[in-house]
Amino acid sequence: MSELIGRRDMMRSVGLGALAFSMGSKGAAAAEGSEAKTAVPKEYELPDLPYAFDALAPVLAEDVLRVHHDRHHAGYVNGLNSTLKKLEQARAAGDFGNVKALSRDLAFHGSGHVLHSLYWQSMTPGGSSEPEARLLGVIERAFGSYAGFKGQFLAATKAVEGSGWGLLAYEPVGQGLVVLQVEKHQNLTIWGVVPLMVCDVWEHAYYVQYQNRRSEYVDGFFKLIDWPGVEARCVAAMA
Ligand code: MN
Repeated sequence: MSELIGRRDMMRSVGLGALAFSMGSKGAAAAEGSEAKTAVPKEYELPDLPYAFDALAPVLAEDVLRVHHDRHHAGYVNGLNSTLKKLEQARAAGDFGNVKALSRDLAFHGSGHVLHSLYWQSMTPGGSSEPEARLLGVIERAFGSYAGFKGQFLAATKAVEGSGWGLLAYEPVGQGLVVLQVEKHQNLTIWGVVPLMVCDVWEHAYYVQYQNRRSEYVDGFFKLIDWPGVEARCVAAMA
């Protein structure tokens, strides 16, 4: 198996290929080529939104987007960096008493950063109607029809239990697309999938604006999807 999965594929499968440039991950850049000089990845950085804070209104109000990006996403970036520092200190001290909690924090904050970075890119001001021919063909192979995909994605996303995400991903073993529900940021995945498009259904994403009407928010999100961006990530994942 290891001969079949090249280095580039491995980078992609952990989200470091297509997303790294936009996630502000210096650690990923270091892993790509140059030799690591220390045992600690460089700090992750909060990426700017790819549009103005008011560009997704009225589906997502300016203040909702600003707090979500500047406070919540920033919190995951800070949590990821502080967890990595604590792991460095644990290695230096030879004290792994907290390794279980720190490993959980690493998965939680790391996944939170990856998914939020993709969430901003999943939307575009005004939306982009429906996928074009190339992506549409991939969707139809996986789900039977675009309507079948849309029905499953909307239903799965609205039905996430508690805090989580709806996610469209490329699954490299079966070489096709899957819709997943994510609980918290890190649970219920298939290892190796490449996330292509995600909808945040944590209450912090919509509650100020929609209260308990998650369904209305998810329907609004769907109209904002940047399908050309999804297609570009899909083509890169399949290459
Ligand atoms: Mn969020």
